Amino acid sequence: MKDKYLVVGAGITGCVIAENIASQLGKEVLLIDSRRHVGGNCRDYRSFEGILVHEFGPHIFHTNNGDVWNYLSRFTDWTMYFHRVLANIEGMEIPVPFNLNSIYMAFPAELAGKLENALIEKFGYGTKIPILEMRKTESPLLKFLADYVYRNVFLGYTVKQWGVKPEEIDESVSGRIPVYISRDDRYFQDKYQAIPRLGYSKMIENMLKNDKIEVRLGCDFREISDPNNYKMVIYTGKIDEYFGGKYGELPYRSLRFETEYLNTRQFQPVAQMNYPSNFDFTRITEFKHFLPQNTAGTIIAKEYSMPHVAGKNTPFYPIINPENMSIYEKYRSEALQLKNVIFAGRLAEYKYYNMDQAVASALDKFSLIAGRV
Ligand code: FAD
Ligand code: UDP
Repeated sequence: MKDKYLVVGAGITGCVIAENIASQLGKEVLLIDSRRHVGGNCRDYRSFEGILVHEFGPHIFHTNNGDVWNYLSRFTDWTMYFHRVLANIEGMEIPVPFNLNSIYMAFPAELAGKLENALIEKFGYGTKIPILEMRKTESPLLKFLADYVYRNVFLGYTVKQWGVKPEEIDESVSGRIPVYISRDDRYFQDKYQAIPRLGYSKMIENMLKNDKIEVRLGCDFREISDPNNYKMVIYTGKIDEYFGGKYGELPYRSLRFETEYLNTRQFQPVAQMNYPSNFDFTRITEFKHFLPQNTAGTIIAKEYSMPHVAGKNTPFYPIINPENMSIYEKYRSEALQLKNVIFAGRLAEYKYYNMDQAVASALDKFSLIAGRV
């Protein structure tokens, strides 16, 4: 038994680490998840018509990291896909990130021209400016634009998503979607952007096709009677939970998805429509845009945000702020003392990781594990 590894959590982080332990070290792994599926929040499934539905919100793979792209490409073929998002602003459907095209849709042509010139003169063409930074500008014209974008794109959406105003969350969060001084309407500009051709779940299943990996679903870490019996534990659950919450609870935001089948070919023009100001949901995803799917009906999901309550709903987003980071640091320091436990992933590192960042971190953690063999 002491030769076997235990990986807690079968999300993309746990699966990458389990796959590497099995294929690179040739060692046995027990991979457990308290939920009844592999893939964690990346899970997708096929509807009766064959539409691949992302069970936990829209998942678009995008990265500049060639190593991560090449690694995952061993387990899936890809369909090229560029994500485009429209926000419903004052009844118009306007591209987000807010960019030069958005300006011409939101304002009369003469004013739009002035705004475009002012932006290019101040920041340069092709630059990305976080909204909170743009609001600090002195120019009355640019201040007018920044306030418009703040009010119409960020304020309502952020209050729904995080329960607080944009200036009360970490700048890196609203900074994920900066104002983009460009005509490029894509949500991401990464070198690689795609969706696994047969879905994320299939990609993950392919990773786990190794006799040395035993998968046990519906199994919580607390049910493992003696973790010390394993050579090493790789823990991808909530770090505060691992330590019994001794330094306080790390808060998260959770989501509720209202998923509907509609008897119509297409509900909206793009995969994702954001609703900053109207309704209680933040966005609607229509899944058939991700992969070519010629079905009579369509499937959409409305996303509602709420606080995470342990045992009641799923922790989806860490809430990055100085107070929470100082709690996290206490757990991290204690975690570093444990020689046989490695903490990895969005929940164990309390990081707002995209999938590629989770995979990059998992590959790094595996190097650490390999170094300790
Ligand atoms: P998780 O997927 O959370 O996996 C952790 C697993 O551990 C879970 O399955 C959990 O059940 C299990 N677990 C926890 N505690 C225990 C325990 N005690 N015992 C047993 N098992 C346990 N990324 C992108 O790159 N592009 C996107 O478009 C994108 N969209 C997103 C949309 C939404 C709504 C959300 C929430 C995230 C999105 N992400 C996206 C981020 C992506 O989901 C994460 O980067 C990725 O899922 C992190 O994987 P993980 O394995 O670290 O965590
Ligand atoms: N955001 C916003 N309006 C939008 C899009 C994003 O206010 O139309 C803000 C909001 O605070 C959100 C953050 O930017 O939580 C990050 O957006 P992203 O689309 O990256 O969120 P995710 O897909 O991770 O939920």
